[in-house]
Amino acid sequence: MILSYSIDFSALEKCVKRLNPKVALITFAPGLFGARAQVVEALERLGVKPIVSAIPSYGTCDLHLSEMSAVQADVVINIGHHWQGPEIGRVCFVNVEFMFNVANETSALLEGLRGLNISRVAVLTISSYMSLTKELVKALEESGISVARPRGIAGHWEYEVLGCNYLPAYTTGPVDAQVFIGNSRFHAIGLYLSTERKTLMFDPESMSLLDIKDEAEKALRASLLRISVASTKNKFGIVLGLKEGQLNPEKTRLLSERLIAHGKNVQLISALELTPESLDRFPDIEAFVETACPRIPMTDTGFRRPVLSYPEGLGLLRLLNGKDVGNPYRMAVMY
Ligand code: SF4
Repeated sequence: MILSYSIDFSALEKCVKRLNPKVALITFAPGLFGARAQVVEALERLGVKPIVSAIPSYGTCDLHLSEMSAVQADVVINIGHHWQGPEIGRVCFVNVEFMFNVANETSALLEGLRGLNISRVAVLTISSYMSLTKELVKALEESGISVARPRGIAGHWEYEVLGCNYLPAYTTGPVDAQVFIGNSRFHAIGLYLSTERKTLMFDPESMSLLDIKDEAEKALRASLLRISVASTKNKFGIVLGLKEGQLNPEKTRLLSERLIAHGKNVQLISALELTPESLDRFPDIEAFVETACPRIPMTDTGFRRPVLSYPEGLGLLRLLNGKDVGNPYRMAVMY
């Protein structure tokens, strides 16, 4: 059960001390706008004028730098994502963690793993569950379950994965199962599809341990269907995402050239947000491939024509070349 969340105010204070802003643009991860009053108050106490963006930030890839200059702010304060690498633009990341009653979570996880006869696991998570994850790892080891240590992604914590980067899971060696701590089905499904290894999602809120295989294979079937339908189309929109960390002109160019070589008609499109409504402005286009984020086609079910992510776009090219598509998500880093 979530008790509360904890905002890393020390990171906020360090940011203000280091960059000495007069005006700060605050961006929130989806679901964290409820922290607005606390963050605004903290900034005002530090003598900084806050401007709150109504547009969510979806990750360390989504910096809002153009918005920062449009509103004449000196920094962006990104609430809800974690980054500990070299400074990116004038963006400060302030992590937010969910707090739990660890004793309850520990016994639920231990009971679930013992019931499945699992004795060696890899544990992976996202930044908002990091403190809980460290507590759970300690408790698992003290209870005789061996935990493989992953190598972290540069700029991120040891157990942390991103929806487009599952590299840590590739560094743990053989395990009976990998356990994703958190309630993001997208990340758990991505972890399974990326590694094709037994993946359990431990949701600390409901304290349930779920084998994600069935849901992941359903997502894979939907992905293969999108690719297959797209392969029959002639008019393609290749979408270049404009968010700073999602800007992939080389990949857009590669897809475009290869599709043209297969006789397809290609329209290049740029978009900050890719939604069913934004694609409705292109009624003549029969299928789209976006190079912004693998999450878009997987989690947005409202698209009325096939929309493929970049890994699926590569799968489409394999299919057009007469090859087996396989699992387009079987890779550590998707971008
Ligand atoms: S999965 Fe998408 S939103 Fe998340 S970090 Fe990667 S590109 Fe950004």
